[in-house]
Amino acid sequence: MADLVDDIKAKIGIEELVSQYVPLKKAGRNLKGLCPFHSEKTPSFVVSPEKQICYCFGCSRGGDIFAFIQELESVSFTEALQILGDKAGIKVDASKLEKKAPKGEKDIYFRAHELACSFFEEKLHGTSEGKKVLDYLYKRGLKDETIKEFRIGFAPDSYDSLHPYLLKKGIPKNVLYKSGLVSANNLADDNIYDKYRARLIFPIFDYFGKVCGFGGRALKKDQAPKYLNSPENLIYNKSKVLYGLSHAKKVVKEKDLLILVEGYFDVILPYQSGVRNVVATSGIALSDAQAKLIKRLTPNVVTCFDNDDAGFEATKRSYFVLRSQDLNVRTVDEMEGKDPADFIADDGGDFENVISRARDFEDVFVDKLIGDNNIETISGRAAIVRESAPLYARMSPAAGDLFMRALARKLNLKESVLYDEMRNLRLKADHPARLVNTKKNDSSDVLRFGVDNVFFSLLLEYPFLFPLIRDKADLENFDNEFKSIYNELTTQYNHAQGGVEVWDFDRGVLSDLSDKVSFLRLYAEDLYGEFSKEMLENELLKLVDRMGQERRISKLKNIQTEIEQAEKSGDKERLKVLLEEQMREINKKQLCPEQPNL
Ligand SMILES: [Zn+2]
Repeated sequence: MADLVDDIKAKIGIEELVSQYVPLKKAGRNLKGLCPFHSEKTPSFVVSPEKQICYCFGCSRGGDIFAFIQELESVSFTEALQILGDKAGIKVDASKLEKKAPKGEKDIYFRAHELACSFFEEKLHGTSEGKKVLDYLYKRGLKDETIKEFRIGFAPDSYDSLHPYLLKKGIPKNVLYKSGLVSANNLADDNIYDKYRARLIFPIFDYFGKVCGFGGRALKKDQAPKYLNSPENLIYNKSKVLYGLSHAKKVVKEKDLLILVEGYFDVILPYQSGVRNVVATSGIALSDAQAKLIKRLTPNVVTCFDNDDAGFEATKRSYFVLRSQDLNVRTVDEMEGKDPADFIADDGGDFENVISRARDFEDVFVDKLIGDNNIETISGRAAIVRESAPLYARMSPAAGDLFMRALARKLNLKESVLYDEMRNLRLKADHPARLVNTKKNDSSDVLRFGVDNVFFSLLLEYPFLFPLIRDKADLENFDNEFKSIYNELTTQYNHAQGGVEVWDFDRGVLSDLSDKVSFLRLYAEDLYGEFSKEMLENELLKLVDRMGQERRISKLKNIQTEIEQAEKSGDKERLKVLLEEQMREINKKQLCPEQPNL
């Protein structure tokens, strides 16, 4: 396990990983960007290639590549290991890792889905009714090995076939209900019945290849709905799953390209024909979470939806979502009005070739606009410019420039006129281009790092400062971690006789608290990296002053509170002591003219 972690770390640099999610700028030896974990306007998220960690000084989140992915994708350590293993091209055997984990509620759901999946498979291959369905699959061009690979199944036309089996296997009724495998008027009574009846079953796999839901296609005429999909539950979040991704992810990474299609067969038939980097939205609008999932594997997407108006609208919607994650989008527009499944099944169409000729979506879009509008008329051209504005707004500067040149050429307009037009067009507030990427702003950009943290960050990063404060630091007021760090520094300093150049971070508490120590050093490096020796010394002494002040202020506040209590309770003895103490503290303050008034 430790080997695995190290292998993955050796292949994926923190700066490379983080920059896939956050634009980073060089800042001394480090990189800096807007924090992906909280909303801010000034960057306080620092990445250290040297230390291989990242950290936000605004919200205190960060760590190594695993901590970063866990936080960003809200996944467990094991899942982060899988995700990064995929990125690094290192095989991570999830089943081995997960055996160690305790059985939770999710495991019961996974077990229910796995059992149901095998049940449906058995019904397809082992019953006479199933054989007819199998024939239908053969007719659509599927081979046996493909059917098994995607674990396609069959739900018989019966109200009580699946659920008695699952109940017998110990799956609780409420799990069956929440998984959408049964319906019931009232869960308390025994009146539950199978929900998937007379349907072709496509199991839906999660990122790791575990069955987490089902899509059931109607097999009888007039059967509604045509597709019956699992409801969202503990293990199935439809906006976070892409059909086929667990099968496709390896090839997506190898080819650095993902093909996005609509339906189950559009994934499966290309897969069978050797095009294995295909995933489907399964008929729902592409979500931000799905686009992020894609971005983990590749920045390049080819969309290949139905060649009708609805398909084009879906393509456009996906384009905006994908662009909001900075993905490059090309699109296929030459499959003779067929979807990928029919294109391949009908005449053994060369899908790979079609994909290689996909064009930038911007191009396809403008051609469609020109086809739909009369460019000989002013209103026709105005409509084209108006419709392209949201697209233009989503493009990178380079792509935008190319786009404007091409558009100007096609419309026979001067580029400068087109630029003016675009500027004048204000996007309608409800346009999808405006909906993506509008993040909530909160005003808490302020660093909340605290004087003690800054003080220790300087000591740890610049050991030559240590003698300056060795006898002055007021240990009493530090928390226990800082006390023990201070003691360790003292020990190392005394031991070295004649100054320390670099602390030994592998020793004692510095090693025990290595995360905290790394973050603190990173902070000093980020804030003080450009400071001279003298400036650093000054800064440290100012911090000692600041700490003294803060402590005196809080002490005076405490005394004041106690005085008020003593006055209320009429404890004259106590009041006298407190007033004397207050006087002493105030006199101390007068020795130091720079302090603010209380
Ligand atoms: Zn943050």
